[in-house]
Amino acid sequence: MKTIAFIGLGNMGTPMVKNLLTAGCTVQVFDINAQAAQALAVDGAVVAANLDEVVQGADTVITMLPAGEHVRAVYLGDHHGGVGLLNLVAADTFLIDSSTIDPDSARLVAAEADKKGLTFVDAPVSGGVAGAQAGTLTFIVGGSDQGFQQAQQVLKHVGKNIFHAGKAGDGQMAKICNNLMLGILMAGTCEALNLGIDNGLDPKVLSDIMLQSSGRNWALELYNPCPQVMPTAPASNQYQPGFMGKLMLKDLGLGADAALKSDSAIPMGSLARNLYAFHNARGHEALDFSSLFEFYKSK
Ligand code: NAD
Repeated sequence: MKTIAFIGLGNMGTPMVKNLLTAGCTVQVFDINAQAAQALAVDGAVVAANLDEVVQGADTVITMLPAGEHVRAVYLGDHHGGVGLLNLVAADTFLIDSSTIDPDSARLVAAEADKKGLTFVDAPVSGGVAGAQAGTLTFIVGGSDQGFQQAQQVLKHVGKNIFHAGKAGDGQMAKICNNLMLGILMAGTCEALNLGIDNGLDPKVLSDIMLQSSGRNWALELYNPCPQVMPTAPASNQYQPGFMGKLMLKDLGLGADAALKSDSAIPMGSLARNLYAFHNARGHEALDFSSLFEFYKSK
């Protein structure tokens, strides 16, 4: 079984570590928040005090960090003299970053890893905290064919569907496209439901109609944003837990950055980004992103 160094033990990383332990892997953990690492000791994780310690004896590294700047600092080193993972790991260590970050940072780390003879793949996820807990995440991998095959052997313990999007950075790009679509779809679903309610329709009846009509989409099917229509959706639990509005805004920002670089038109994505920015600024950034429904309701 594998010995995995896992770095970044937040909402996503912690349940992923638990699933790796359940699968029988040895998991060494590190987070700048020492409590997050310590909390996993009862589950059998080996707690490390720093990056150097966490990779000792590990054949695989998985990182689950907030953004590109954190991923660059952890792999390449930081401006405060911190040594990066690429200079700490043993030869042949396999490197997986599952954070959602800009494709350029992923490509940079992959290229620097390659110079040292190391294989790095970007493998962002879809499925949120619930998917991380259930071990049903979707992984979207960018990297070589050989890197993809190696990634599958590890990620099968924490995910259900594992896709090869293409070369380095393409996993991030595909994830960004998916979340651009999701942000737009959710905004459209909120808008249509609210229009119906304002005109006297029952949102449950309207949802059932649209589910069997051409407006059918993922939000309507699994994640209805109108409270009490779907008991299992965050909307029926004060919009918690779920995929926080601030994370949706981050991902739509990554989409905007990518569009700027490729000169692509994303009018719908830009509008959706601004809707979430308005909504978050009113104190809703920690709520599930489907709380955007409240933004429409506020007339
Ligand atoms: P989080 O903020 O809960 O966790 C990030 C962890 O990284 C924190 O514990 C933090 O202390 C740690 N960290 C930061 N810098 C570090 C460093 N230099 N060294 C070691 N540890 C460091 O974030 P999360 O919700 O777990 O998300 C992680 C990534 O997954 C993000 O890129 C996010 O966009 C993506 N993602 C999140 C969700 C979700 O629903 N939460 C869904 C899909 C993808």
